[in-house]
Amino acid sequence: QEDDFKKVISHAKEYGYVFQSSEIYDGLSAVYDYAQNGAELKKNIREYWWKAMVQLNENIVGIDAAIFMHPTTWKASGHVDAFSDPLIDNKDSKKRYRADVLVEDYVAKIEGKIEKEVDKAAKRFGDSFDKAQFLNTNQRVVEYQERATSILKRLGKSLENEDLDDVKRLIEELEIACPMSGSKNWTDVKQFNLMFGTKLGATTETAMDLYLRPETAQGIFVNFLNVQKTGRMKIPFGIAQTGKAFRNEIVARQFIFRMREFEQMEMQFFIKPGTQQEWYEKWKDMRMKWHLSLGMGEENYRFHDHEKLAHYADAAADIEFRFPFGFKELEGIHSRTDFDLSAHEKFSGKKLQYFDNDTRESYVPYVIETSIGLDRMFLAVFSKALQEEELENGTTRTVLRLPSVLAPNKAAVLPLVKKDGLPEVARKIIDDLKWDFNVTYDEKDAVGRRYRRQDANGTPFCITVDHQTLEDETVTIRHRDTMEQQRVAISELKGIIHQEVDM
Ligand code: ATP
Repeated sequence: QEDDFKKVISHAKEYGYVFQSSEIYDGLSAVYDYAQNGAELKKNIREYWWKAMVQLNENIVGIDAAIFMHPTTWKASGHVDAFSDPLIDNKDSKKRYRADVLVEDYVAKIEGKIEKEVDKAAKRFGDSFDKAQFLNTNQRVVEYQERATSILKRLGKSLENEDLDDVKRLIEELEIACPMSGSKNWTDVKQFNLMFGTKLGATTETAMDLYLRPETAQGIFVNFLNVQKTGRMKIPFGIAQTGKAFRNEIVARQFIFRMREFEQMEMQFFIKPGTQQEWYEKWKDMRMKWHLSLGMGEENYRFHDHEKLAHYADAAADIEFRFPFGFKELEGIHSRTDFDLSAHEKFSGKKLQYFDNDTRESYVPYVIETSIGLDRMFLAVFSKALQEEELENGTTRTVLRLPSVLAPNKAAVLPLVKKDGLPEVARKIIDDLKWDFNVTYDEKDAVGRRYRRQDANGTPFCITVDHQTLEDETVTIRHRDTMEQQRVAISELKGIIHQEVDM
């Protein structure tokens, strides 16, 4: 698993998808740049989302709100008071941990230890070894397991209740039960706010303290009435937006899964109070369908319904995806009630109510939200697409099976040789196709190697120009996934590619 993930990261760099930010200065932790291919893939994911949400839904419109917002926004939203993670420092190693992530590390360590005992016993007993029986009867393992489970259970509760003294005590107990850091010297657990602060204004006296937005949603809430009135929107309706968000994440070690600067794609759907259950279920269903439409395998998605709810929600679920490091949250669907609009009414003193023309009554709408990280979606698509394949002749090929609709380049045009007028014909084909798709040209190395290069780059089609092309205006077109080749007329190319890559 770890190796698979390493391959994903190195492939993303080698093929111009994702670079560490400021790499020549040794990088900035948990900040990444999208390279020439990555920027295209990211744009295509964003467009695929926008089309499904805005273009195809008559009652959803899109906006693009600023990253800077009036600071009171974040008081109203609850982020100043409640947007924090529990932190603990180890005084000996001088390392800082997010308490909940530290607990995950202990769980992994404990599981690893038990697995080791199992392996040892399996070697000793050979064929007659029964793992389940061993786990149930081996005194040492049973005791260890019981002890660890009991501490972990209590820790889970304390974290949930934000009982910070208890969290510290239990982490110390865990360290004794399962030594990991080799140190017992922990500080008290503290809540750490994840928002980045900055200043607006020229002089220290007049400057205003601002935050970089930690989510895009609030830009939609504060514009709710403006959009509703100017767009003459009728409930139910939605407002969608994509854009950057910033969080000072403490543990940021899973490549673009958790970044300090990232992009969200969010949609707030405004509804009549009392209809939230129905719309919540509908949006869960619609969002899952969107994911499945990309054809990356139903078995790689699952819902996780939240038992513990955030301060703003009356129901919440995640769509989880099977990342190289296991099932993890990819998108959240939240029933946010009237929490945000009511809070903004209170803090701003402005009415944020919808007037229903049919019933002649005013009310603060309820909201169902769908919120997905663009970068996380990128990682989902990219990691699932990267495959190593055994070929019939015994060799392997690396192929990036990106959904064609998302691929950075839709076709590569390759002259078989660099002479006899073939490059010129290839260029002419590109000049014709480039108005419809991103197409690339490649004439270096043997054609087989060029095919492999395009496979690894995720390009769905290779178009090869050879001597026969000069006679009859046909080319071969090779499909990335099947490696099948067809002889087709140049005039047919556009139609074939459109059919495969259009949404
Ligand atoms: P997590 O529990 O993973 O921190 P969250 O529950 O805080 O995520 P939300 O606030 O619901 O996430 O944000 C919605 C979506 O934004 C998430 O489902 C995820 O895809 C994305 N997201 C959140 N934080 C980050 C981050 N630091 N880096 C990249 N994407 C993120």
